[in-house]
Amino acid sequence: MPVPRVRETGSGMLDQTHDPSLRSWVESANQPGADFPIQNLPFATFRPTEEANPTLGVAIGDQVLDVSEAFGIDSMETLMAMPRAKRVELRRRISGFLARHSSAAETLLTPMDSAELLLPCEIRDYTDFYASIHHATNVGRMFRPDQPLLPNYKWVPVGYHGRASSVVVSGTPVRRPWGQTVENPAGPPVYSPTRRLDYELELGAFAGPGNAPGEPILMDEAADHLVGVCLLNDWSARDIQAWEYQPLGPFLSKSFATSISPWVVTMEALEPFRCPGDPRPDSDPQPLPHLTCAEPGAFDITLEVWLRSARMEAPMRVSRGNFRSMYWTLAQMVAHHTSNGCPLRAGSLIGSGTVSGPEKGNRGCLLEMTWRGTEPLELPSGEVRQFLEDGDEVTLRGWCEAPGFRRIGLGECRGACFSLP
Ligand code: CA
Repeated sequence: MPVPRVRETGSGMLDQTHDPSLRSWVESANQPGADFPIQNLPFATFRPTEEANPTLGVAIGDQVLDVSEAFGIDSMETLMAMPRAKRVELRRRISGFLARHSSAAETLLTPMDSAELLLPCEIRDYTDFYASIHHATNVGRMFRPDQPLLPNYKWVPVGYHGRASSVVVSGTPVRRPWGQTVENPAGPPVYSPTRRLDYELELGAFAGPGNAPGEPILMDEAADHLVGVCLLNDWSARDIQAWEYQPLGPFLSKSFATSISPWVVTMEALEPFRCPGDPRPDSDPQPLPHLTCAEPGAFDITLEVWLRSARMEAPMRVSRGNFRSMYWTLAQMVAHHTSNGCPLRAGSLIGSGTVSGPEKGNRGCLLEMTWRGTEPLELPSGEVRQFLEDGDEVTLRGWCEAPGFRRIGLGECRGACFSLP
């Protein structure tokens, strides 16, 4: 059996759990193209039955393994609070457990389609960054054609404090928010349902174990304080945002709902997809020393948006981008976030910001895709969209592929919008 080379670069490590020839006795995990082969092992919080208490699980093929029963880890919160070395050790034990069959282990499986997948954990805090220079430049060009990118962009990973209480799990319907908007620049604002509801394709990252107040997480340690990633849709009301955002940034245009996928794909599972080098061009200013580290921090994760209106039978793909195109890495976001001493805690959620790339097909929200509604999107049903209509369902998908490794998937993050009559 070929064993991949073991690579240790700072915190990043390849080991036997990444061996592409490793197979599970759960046959569905071995199907080509499966999101959850034995090399992935993402965690979720789930209910095995309607009456059961929430418990910690790991995905294997189309099944969920009860990790609380099998390994005595009682919750996602406990997992996220562990030092990284313990999480790595747990991954190796789960991998071994799912590679060698035992009849007792079969009783710890629940079919995924009968399990209720919940929010991974209580969201302790939620910060949303703005780390795609392509997204920042496109949006900047719409509102400030003479200066699309503000002078701080290449120095500071820009972010704002989101609303932890509004984070919901994939599948939760999203109610169209009401808010103040200005339709006529000469008139006063009105309070009405948003007419410019949008999605934002993002990656979410969970922090853990975190830092004490006043003690920044240094760049070299930042990767140890990232547990894993999920898909994140930062629903946005563009008309409310345009009226409210100056001078303190987005507020009610964002805090009505943010959807995340239930699976936390660990940084260990992502290790084979770490990209060499730095995504920023050599001609750009290099980050300040406290945001610099020897370990490359970008990851090759393909991310897609699919849209289905109420009249469409099948969804259409709207865009496809890649997380490797981000200007700032997750590790830099952690180091920057804590650089003033701000504590990150196990279960703090970090949004990457909209993932857009250089081409039109890479644009991660409708604001960019339809260029503020001036280039409407044509749907196969004959409908057109500038922004989302009630009944539209948005699904985010993500996966990683690299030569010599098994493909792994992030699952999906789904949500449809509606209005009350
Ligand atoms: Ca966002």
